[in-house]
Formats: sequence, C-alpha cells, structure tokens
Amino acid sequence: MEQTFIMIKPDGVQRGLVGEIISRFEKKGFSFKGLKLMTVDSPFAKKHYEDLLSKPFFGALIGYITCGPVIAMIGEGEGVVKTGRTIIGATNPTQSAPGTIRGDFAIVMGMNIIHGSDSVESAQKEIAFWFPDGPIN
Ligand code: UDP
Ligand code: MG
Repeated sequence: MEQTFIMIKPDGVQRGLVGEIISRFEKKGFSFKGLKLMTVDSPFAKKHYEDLLSKPFFGALIGYITCGPVIAMIGEGEGVVKTGRTIIGATNPTQSAPGTIRGDFAIVMGMNIIHGSDSVESAQKEIAFWFPDGPIN
C-alpha cells in the first residue's frame, strides 16, 4: 500500500492547526501509520531539504523548519502521495485553492503550514529519514 510523508510545519503547530489538519486527512480516508512531535536541528532540516540547497530561500527555509516543533506523519492508502499534495494545495498560498490546507490557512510561501512528499520515491526516502526505527518508535 502506498505511503506518504506529511509534516505539519512549526507555524501549523504554533497556531493550533494540528487537529484540523489531521482531521482533513482522516476524513479523506488516510490511515496514519506513524505520528510524532519533534523539534529538528539545522543539519537534519538541511538533509530533508537537500535538493533545495542552491535556492536563495534555503537559509530562511531551514530557520523556519527549526524554529519550533513539527508533527511528522506517515499516511497510507491508495494514491496518497498525489492525493496528499492535492489536499495540501499549491506551494505558494497566493495560488493555492480555497478548500486546500494552504489555501485556507496560509498567506505567504515562507510560512505555508505543511509539507507533503512530491513522489512515491521521495515519500520512501523521507519516511526512512524521519522514521529510521520504524513507524512506532
Ligand atoms: N519555499 C519558499 N520560497 C520559495 C519556494 C519554496 O520559502 O520560493 C519553501 C516553502 O516552505 C516550501 C518549501 O520551501 O514548502 C519547499 O519547497 P518545494 O518547492 O519543495 O515546495 P512544496 O513541495 O513544499 O510544495
Ligand atoms: Mg517539496
């Protein structure tokens, strides 16, 4: 069964949106196979976002992801990678449709509430990185 990695970013946690966000995935039918609150350090955040290293916003992105606790989750179900991205909405909240998480709760790209894997391959990589001891530990 397909799995995706979803992370509620520090602004989503700080603003008290965890329940609302998890509820949307649950109601859609995602099964949660792993879920934890954690604060990541800069080397960890850089590894997660290593593909974006050359981008001008990389430093700000690492500062953002490390500024407070995040919720890391494994969602499972048919087609969850693509469906997860649809529920999350476009990267830039000025373009994410109403009804999506970013469309409803975010206004700037630098604080866009949530991460979701962009392919089955990156989902597998991210799940292994964020849940190295398996989903329950
Ligand atoms: N980001 C940003 N400025 C940009 C592009 C991206 O601050 O111009 C941040 C934003 O938080 C985004 C993250 O970097 O969610 C990762 O970028 P990506 O292109 O992978 O977008 P996503 O997959 O999160 O939609
Ligand atoms: Mg991405």
